Amino acid sequence: MLGYVKLPRLVPLFPRDLREAVQLREENPDAAYLAGGTCLIPLLKSGAYRTGKLIDLSRLKELRYIRVGEGVIRIGALATHADVANSTALRPINAFQNFTKSYTSPVVMNSATVGGSIATASHTEDLIPILLALNTELTLLTPDGDRLTVELEKYIKEYDRLKKHLILEAAFKLPANGVLCDFEKLALGISRIPLSSVAVKVELERRRISGATVAVAQVNGTRPGRVREVEELLKGREITEELIGEAANKLKQSISPPEDTQASSWYRRELAATLFKRIMRRLVEHG
Ligand SMILES: Cc1cc2nc3c(=O)[nH]c(=O)nc-3n(C[C@H](O)[C@H](O)[C@H](O)COP(=O)(O)OP(=O)(O)OC[C@H]3O[C@@H](n4cnc5c(N)ncnc54)[C@H](O)[C@@H]3O)c2cc1C
Repeated sequence: MLGYVKLPRLVPLFPRDLREAVQLREENPDAAYLAGGTCLIPLLKSGAYRTGKLIDLSRLKELRYIRVGEGVIRIGALATHADVANSTALRPINAFQNFTKSYTSPVVMNSATVGGSIATASHTEDLIPILLALNTELTLLTPDGDRLTVELEKYIKEYDRLKKHLILEAAFKLPANGVLCDFEKLALGISRIPLSSVAVKVELERRRISGATVAVAQVNGTRPGRVREVEELLKGREITEELIGEAANKLKQSISPPEDTQASSWYRRELAATLFKRIMRRLVEHG
């Protein structure tokens, strides 16, 4: 296997528990955590990321779960994308149904983990806009063995400071009745990386929006984030086709997606607005 993918020489380290995992990272600052390897292994293979040591998390089975209790859904960092797709707890949330429907590779889905997605803090990850829209909090384990709770939004904003910590869990409130959350993405067949993806959560009282969170994969370059300007515009307003159009225009003005060989920044802005409108119309139908 190693011969085929031409990986550089790597020393695997196998922590027996969470404390040992962070200690190994502290003792080997150049080592990387390895979860499903679907992101890291291609980077090592291409030389875009270099390290001589990998801290293999795959034996830390206590991090693989999806639990519901007291109105909160808790997802362990080693829960796979397939676990998310198959979870009966997550199925009622439309966003996760669309995550599953639009997934590009069933093989990758079985290995890729929720913690691995979050730790990239990147526009490549479908789960990040969904978890942002759901106001997710992360539990991190610091090198000293302390547990730190931080909002996913803050984790992304302060990524350079927080990325050294081990992600243990992502948790969010189970949406109450009348709270709808949905997700849309568009990816070209030639690429697994979406051109754009959007997640929206709205709280509807009859046709009035009492609260909304809007998250886009590429808010600022390749960084995902919330679009507060749109959330503020929606709040307290009656949902109509005019409002959806107004909010979509605001979304276009508020984000600055990257420009690359697949799409211009202008195209990605238009696309994000279109995906947003699609979600909002569906939410109205369901609501
Ligand atoms: C062909 C293909 C198709 C794909 N299709 C999709 C798709 O349709 N939708 C989608 O959302 N994604 C998709 N992906 C993206 C991929 O699934 C993610 O990059 C993946 O979730 C990363 O998780 P992993 O467990 O494989 O992470 P790894 O590759 O093991 O690690 C990724 C990064 O996270 C760090 N890390 C891992 N776990 C932790 C932790 N617990 N704490 C701190 N740091 C950690 C690692 O050190 C590394 O820097 C696809 C990828 C491929 C290759």
